[in-house]
Amino acid sequence: MNASATASHTLADRFGENVFNLRTMRNYLSEKAYRSLRATIVSGTPLDAQIADEVADAMKTWALEKGATHFTHWFQPLTGATAEKHESFLTPDAEGGALMQFSGRELIQGEPDASSFPSGGLRATFEARGYTAWDPTSPAFIKECEKGAVLCIPTVFCGYNGEALDKKTPLLRSMEALSRQVCRLGRLFGLDVDGKRAYVTLGPEQEYFLIDKRFYEKRLDLLQTGRTLFGRSPAKHQQLEDHYFGAIRSRVIEFMTELDLELWRLGVPARTRHNEVCPAQFELAPTFENLNLAVDHNMLVMEVIQRVAEKHGFVALLHEKPFAGVNGSGKHNNWSICGPDGKNWLTPGDNPAENAKFLTLLVALIRAVDLHADLLRAAVATAGNDHRLGANEAPPAIVSIYLGEQLTAILEQIETGRTGRLRKGGFIELGVSSLPRLPRHATDRNRTSPFAFTGNKFEFRAVGSRQSCAGPNVVMNTITAESLDILCTRLESAVAEGRPFHETLQELLRELIATHKRIIFNGDNYTPEWRAEAERRGLPNLRTTPEALEALVTPKAKALFARYGVLSETELESRYEVYREQYERQVSIEARCALHMARTLIAPAAITWQETLARTVVAVESAGGNATAARTALQDVSAALQSLFTAMQELEKGLDREGLAKVGLMANLRTAADTLEGLVPADRWPLPSYAEMLFGG
Ligand code: ADP
Ligand code: MG
Repeated sequence: MNASATASHTLADRFGENVFNLRTMRNYLSEKAYRSLRATIVSGTPLDAQIADEVADAMKTWALEKGATHFTHWFQPLTGATAEKHESFLTPDAEGGALMQFSGRELIQGEPDASSFPSGGLRATFEARGYTAWDPTSPAFIKECEKGAVLCIPTVFCGYNGEALDKKTPLLRSMEALSRQVCRLGRLFGLDVDGKRAYVTLGPEQEYFLIDKRFYEKRLDLLQTGRTLFGRSPAKHQQLEDHYFGAIRSRVIEFMTELDLELWRLGVPARTRHNEVCPAQFELAPTFENLNLAVDHNMLVMEVIQRVAEKHGFVALLHEKPFAGVNGSGKHNNWSICGPDGKNWLTPGDNPAENAKFLTLLVALIRAVDLHADLLRAAVATAGNDHRLGANEAPPAIVSIYLGEQLTAILEQIETGRTGRLRKGGFIELGVSSLPRLPRHATDRNRTSPFAFTGNKFEFRAVGSRQSCAGPNVVMNTITAESLDILCTRLESAVAEGRPFHETLQELLRELIATHKRIIFNGDNYTPEWRAEAERRGLPNLRTTPEALEALVTPKAKALFARYGVLSETELESRYEVYREQYERQVSIEARCALHMARTLIAPAAITWQETLARTVVAVESAGGNATAARTALQDVSAALQSLFTAMQELEKGLDREGLAKVGLMANLRTAADTLEGLVPADRWPLPSYAEMLFGG
């Protein structure tokens, strides 16, 4: 074996070394406990409480070997981050010594004093307790710190009566709901679905910025809000697109190498890494996994990116729009369904039956997205993402589906029953015709669509870079479950009445395509023509978070989530409250931070420069010189300063107003400040410039 083969062998061994996965369990559990837990993880059989003590003990033994001193229930409250409260394994014994203990009870349930997490009124303070409960389908892992390590146990987080207080609970519920409907459809297609499940596969692509820590520390706005509230675009930023896929700088490569290794050790299958369009922007994409695991892993990706960046003297910015005027960061949510037969159902199959199943799912999704475009929009509504959606760099706030020409033509043929140019020899007859092979790469060329079919999956591109993937996928799963439910009900009753299956299906798809095809748009989503066209088609264009969030509490949404047992009406309302409050708080922090910076940094710098210019004018003129240039510079600075002060006053007055109003006032303040940045000498400007942050270090 040569040296590099040895190295990659070692690397493969290190994958998942910090995870209590099936491979590890095998070495630490009895055969009986292993089989039982495996059945829970793989097939979703209910957990056998009898084995909890043994599993806990095994986990502890393994964790202690890894240097862990503590364990924690690791959960995902509505803040959108992860939460943990460490507890030591150490238990004093009766003789003044101590034992390292961890019981099945402690594994299965926890009771963090977590009353400060947002609940949107679901928990009155007198019943402030929240409970965490082990999610065995996402394996426990070790998080290492400078000294020691912590055993992290993925959990759901619920209130006393089981009301969801987190992002994982509805995700798991929505996966159940979808699996049921997919299996129902599978049965209609003659598949053996007994005791089987379907699951969603997710591959979230994560974008982020890296900037040198020195600059970050001098930017109060980045420190406090995650984005720059001021800053003039440099002459060169991303116009040449010479950063995209370019050679990665050595300092960044070092960071990425360590990042990948850390992620692999945590069992996160990081796969690709590259430069993005904007300088200082990068992307990491994993191999897709079961949705629940992929969501947990993406939370870890975000955390580890930030931790490793710091070790390399960088700060990773996960905000959706850290810099105005250049691209922001998103998270492409690659979503597909793995059916009870273990196959990807969004792959056009090799035979007529699989094609029919594929087209059925496709049409179900078209219906789902058309009926619930507002919910998909609401699922990506955050203060940060508002700066991105609708700017000409990211998918617009209008949700539409890109299918590509070929698939669109196939659907047209089904709808009209006519032969198209793509198929000679008859129209598409479900159950009989084979589809032409769809060349995968021809389907992935439209980068402007928020929701694109990319060969064997749908890519929801409007998700924000800092968001948890849970929310958007709860919506995806639930709306798909609903569509499949409606379709299956119609098909089942037809079959019960003895009507031929494929003919009924053909008729049903024809009808659904006709009703919902308005959601399909293969053109350029960035153009004003599309906005006008979308309006004519009656598609919602919810530009801002406050508008978009309203979709969560419509009677339609309440009925949908309740019907599939994903979120009750109260749970949904509480989420709406939490997200609205988060938006208002975020914008308030930004407004106060902007005002403070304008008053204490920007205005003083400009005033000092104004004074210097004034002295220059006097000095030059008293020496008999011509001070026209200095006088013009003085007038320019004075005018811009005046605008800055006016904008400051307006923002000050507007601090009590609603978020949206403050966003507008901040934009005015920024314009005035950015004008001044172009007038005041660089060495007197109190903030690192865009050029330094994007190109420096
Ligand atoms: P691109 O979309 O850039 O052409 P890929 O198709 O290779 O690149 O994948 C992008 C992301 O989509 C990756 O994270 C990948 O794991 C994910 N992906 C690929 N196939 C699936 C699938 N069947 N389900 C979910 N995600 C998938
Ligand atoms: Mg992609």
